Amino acid sequence: MSHKIKVVCRVRPFLQKEKPDSSVTVEGKTVLRVTNPRDNTKDIRFNFDACYGARTSQETIYKNDVRPLVETIFTGLSATVFCYGVTGAGKTHTIQGSEQDPGIIPRALEHIFMHQRQDAADYDIRISYFEIYKEAVFDLLKPQDNVTLPIREDASHKIFIAGLTERKVTSFEHFDAIYQRALGNRHTASTKLNNHSSRSHAILTVRVEWADDLTKKTWCGRLHLIDLAGSEDNRRTENGRDRMAESSAINRSLFVLGQVVEALNTGSLRVPFRDSKMTRILQDSLGGESLGMMIVNVAPGTVFLQDTHNTLNFATKSREV
Ligand code: ADP
Ligand code: MG
Repeated sequence: MSHKIKVVCRVRPFLQKEKPDSSVTVEGKTVLRVTNPRDNTKDIRFNFDACYGARTSQETIYKNDVRPLVETIFTGLSATVFCYGVTGAGKTHTIQGSEQDPGIIPRALEHIFMHQRQDAADYDIRISYFEIYKEAVFDLLKPQDNVTLPIREDASHKIFIAGLTERKVTSFEHFDAIYQRALGNRHTASTKLNNHSSRSHAILTVRVEWADDLTKKTWCGRLHLIDLAGSEDNRRTENGRDRMAESSAINRSLFVLGQVVEALNTGSLRVPFRDSKMTRILQDSLGGESLGMMIVNVAPGTVFLQDTHNTLNFATKSREV
């Protein structure tokens, strides 16, 4: 199996308020078995590059799957991690975590600053953080009401977001202060706009640049850490024009992402990067030799069964089984 985009599944534990009737079982290291409540001879098994159950720690996920990706940015490549799943499945917990139980973002930045200290190299480390909501780009480092940023292509055909703020960060603490403030911006928007954070993609990019001592050539590695919009089909439960516009933008961009992952993993010649804002922005980071990983977050409860099926069908369609 050689995927450019690894697909890894993570099942979260039951929450205290939930009835613990599980519809999923992790089998071995790579299989998730989904129970058919009416007939257990009809259970379905889904294959992943790795499959993690409720007891898997944040540290294990980082060490096994994320660390090797982050290492590659120091060879001048790009790496991308997506968390995909319905609202409540554990995307934010996985990518961001909490102060008590930090997720991928703080671990990756600690790792990058550690690498910098060990190498004693002169790395220039910069971050940007933006959101894509209804196919429009919003800066989270310098939020401005109703200002959306355009996507442009430069003379060498590199895609960039015009006007996006980049901040140089010099230590983990420095990064964290900026990041926490930006998270605050995201939460404010969420309260104003009816749970908007589960309906937008949040993309943190860390760019590391350095000059080779001998050749003076400049190297650049990039890491994108992405909390995707909830993949639930809002059309089932919600009406209203705004909701419909949101849902179709989300469904469409996730659909395109699935197609891009599939095309990359099957070596297809046509990768539909241009069909959504997010894949367009990530185009230079997903093609070529770059590595990526999709973490598919799953909630264990039977109440999520339909969502779980949809999620797994999406995720396993996007790779060869
Ligand atoms: P999402 O971002 O996909 O909507 P969250 O990350 O907010 O989901 O997770 C929903 C709830 O489940 C949160 O209360 C979160 O703390 C908890 N949770 C998710 N994953 C885990 C996990 N692996 N271990 C413990 N609690 C988790
Ligand atoms: Mg979330």
